[in-house]
Amino acid sequence: MEIKFTTTPSPEDTKKSTIPTRQSWDDYFMNMAVQAATRSTCPRKQVGCVIVRDKAIIATGYNGSLPGEAHCYTHGCFLQDSHCIRTVHAETNAINQAAKNGASLNGATIYCNVEPCWNCYKNILSAGITSIFFKDSYGSKPYIHQECVLRNLTKYERIE
Ligand SMILES: [Zn+2]
Ligand SMILES: [Zn+2]
Repeated sequence: MEIKFTTTPSPEDTKKSTIPTRQSWDDYFMNMAVQAATRSTCPRKQVGCVIVRDKAIIATGYNGSLPGEAHCYTHGCFLQDSHCIRTVHAETNAINQAAKNGASLNGATIYCNVEPCWNCYKNILSAGITSIFFKDSYGSKPYIHQECVLRNLTKYERIE
């Protein structure tokens, strides 16, 4: 059988192709974070994230109860100061997943569908993650830009 190497796609292949609308890496991982959020078990906010290094996924997470525990959507949230404390947040879950699997997050990038809360933000930094991308803003963080400079974060950016 003869193998033909072509240098241009046939008109028929071009018609079928989705390549002209191919996503950027940032959109690709952010869309995965949005997808991860659909696994959330807390009706108050559905959050998802993906942690990446060298264009490969190291860990993913969404906000949910501890393994084996009841879910917010079936048993209600535990509220403290109007925040649900039943769930482990998406970012912290992803960081914990990496720890369980023995994967370093040093120098990694995190994509979150919602801007990280302060606790997750601190966990992200202490895990060695150096770039943070988020889609929806969450609360006000007046010190965040100063913090980013202080912490040598290479990126703290909103992707819409
Ligand atoms: Zn909840
Ligand atoms: Zn959080």
